[in-house]
Amino acid sequence: MIDQLYRKAVLTVAGQQAIENVVRARGWGMAQRFVAGETPQTAIAAVQELQQDGILANLDLLGEFIESPEQCTAFADNVLTMIDAAHAAGITPYVSIKLSSVGQGKTVGGEDLGLKNARRIIGRARQFGGFVCLDMEDHPRVDQTLAQFRTLVGEFGHGHVGTVLQSYLYRSEADRAALDDLQPNLRVVKGAYLEPETVAYPDKADVDAAYRRLVYAHMTAGNYVNVATHDERLIDDVKMFALAHGIARDAFEFQMLYGIRRDLQKSLVKDGYRVRAYIPYGRDWYPYFSRRIAETPRNAMFVIRGMLRG
Ligand SMILES: Cc1cc2nc3c(=O)[nH]c(=O)nc-3n(C[C@H](O)[C@H](O)[C@H](O)COP(=O)(O)OP(=O)(O)OC[C@H]3O[C@@H](n4cnc5c(N)ncnc54)[C@H](O)[C@@H]3O)c2cc1C
Repeated sequence: MIDQLYRKAVLTVAGQQAIENVVRARGWGMAQRFVAGETPQTAIAAVQELQQDGILANLDLLGEFIESPEQCTAFADNVLTMIDAAHAAGITPYVSIKLSSVGQGKTVGGEDLGLKNARRIIGRARQFGGFVCLDMEDHPRVDQTLAQFRTLVGEFGHGHVGTVLQSYLYRSEADRAALDDLQPNLRVVKGAYLEPETVAYPDKADVDAAYRRLVYAHMTAGNYVNVATHDERLIDDVKMFALAHGIARDAFEFQMLYGIRRDLQKSLVKDGYRVRAYIPYGRDWYPYFSRRIAETPRNAMFVIRGMLRG
């Protein structure tokens, strides 16, 4: 409950235009701890640096609240540029997209623009043996995202497209079971948005318990799981569960965010686990940065100290 209040307070403050202006003007240096620069080249340099530690990468071009259909298509074009740049640098493209950024919910020529642009992106990634994960956004988008995921797996195969379930949503366990026939590659997260009690567990203990149930059920069903968390207790429990149930280390991977718990990422690699870092980059870093600050007071202190130092 306290976590919820903290998150709500930070996201409310961060939503104020005046705060945004100050942080945008003075906060880029601090944001760089969480964001790998503003161009595909800076992001690729981050991928190559992680590779030296045996850490895999998931590239994410930042861009939220993109409004017009033209902006959505331009954003999708930039994702294609990123995929091409990764391929040219010898990296198998693994990217995440938010369907809202590429036009989900906008009908153009009788077709959902998000679906149309997702097809272009997944098609290009597949051409290079790559993979696209459809990030999960706030709860009103879940139905459409899961329906579009189903369509896209049918067209491209589960080896080239995956999606995300959020353990804070009451519905996610039923959603997972309903997707089982696709043998889907799923990322399990706790959830990053401010959601009402009508749809999401307000207590952290319930979110964590649901997280375990989701991961264990998906592993037991024989599907690939991306265990996306920095929570060491959950990570240890998943390791134990896999060991106890004979689940191979290549049947799942741990995922963490760029700039967070690099020590843990490295030690998991050393122990023979697959680890992938989620590498956001791009000019539109403010909403992403605000969500990271809202996750833990430690990050808020990091920013406040940085601002005071000027
Ligand atoms: C790879 C990846 C992809 C994601 N994709 C999505 C998505 O598509 N949709 C979505 O809603 N959410 C997504 N998230 C965010 C997720 O929902 C959580 O908000 C976020 O991961 C924090 O939760 P946690 O599991 O790390 O656990 P928490 O209980 O929040 O944290 C556990 C511990 O991890 C450490 N920690 C956590 N966050 C931070 C931080 N920001 N800085 C420093 N330490 C931290 C702290 O030590 C904390 O005590 C993603 C997260 C990851 C790692």
